[in-house]
Amino acid sequence: MMSCRLAAFSLASLLLVQGCASVGPAPGGLDIDTSITARSQGSRVRFIVLHYTVSESPRALDILSRGEVSSHYLVTDDEPPRVYRLVDEDRAAWHAGQSEWQGYTWLNRSSIGIEIVNRGPVGTAPDGTTRWQPYTPSQIRVVKALVRDIADRHGIAPENIVGHSDVAPLRKQDPGPLFPWRELARAGLGRWYDETVAQALRARFESQGLPDAAWVQQQLARLGYAVPRTGVADRETQAVLAAFQMHYRPSRHDGVFDAETAGVLAALVAATGGGGEAAAAGAW
Ligand SMILES: [Zn+2]
Repeated sequence: MMSCRLAAFSLASLLLVQGCASVGPAPGGLDIDTSITARSQGSRVRFIVLHYTVSESPRALDILSRGEVSSHYLVTDDEPPRVYRLVDEDRAAWHAGQSEWQGYTWLNRSSIGIEIVNRGPVGTAPDGTTRWQPYTPSQIRVVKALVRDIADRHGIAPENIVGHSDVAPLRKQDPGPLFPWRELARAGLGRWYDETVAQALRARFESQGLPDAAWVQQQLARLGYAVPRTGVADRETQAVLAAFQMHYRPSRHDGVFDAETAGVLAALVAATGGGGEAAAAGAW
């Protein structure tokens, strides 16, 4: 086969040079033929991880562009929000840290990170619970458009659109309980459950009693969470359960296992291919 370099010497074949892709820096200074592309290939990106910044826009931009951490995208709280791309999608950003989801660890190399300007916890309510800053409707509109575009281009499964708290539940709470996961899932951008099934299962858990800690750990693991398999409701398991609640049952996310949480957990496992409602509910 005639190489691109040789083709360039012939006036008659100059036009063919346009068809050769090996223009620009060649690895190792080699003449690499890139005229044939394999059919079997895919994106290296498997997850989208959502965060809040805690910091205001200027400081967040400074930290994420000049500090020791970074993200692919930053969505500001301007009206309308600005979207910065700070790291190319084919490169890793330092946003997830020690993390695990679906058995994959250290997700920086396999994920796209999106930081949203939001302060997170902003005080304590009279009843002693934490108050959180809401996201603006335009921020959510922008995040949905961004997530949809990234998920489409990289072929990311709904269950792999997650929060930092899902993949690092012992360390992180972002994007927090006010992030509208249900709204995103309804738009096809995330995993959700059949709420009628969850209600029915909750009623059964209320009348028949709650499953044990081993069951909780098993179901959380099936959904992708990194959870200890001790069979005991230890501190780590409670932290994972709190992360689960923030995502799927945000009205209460204190890590306390109750019938509503059990219903949602079983309904999600059923929706994730866990063998249907009967199998999910009959596992205890
Ligand atoms: Zn984060």
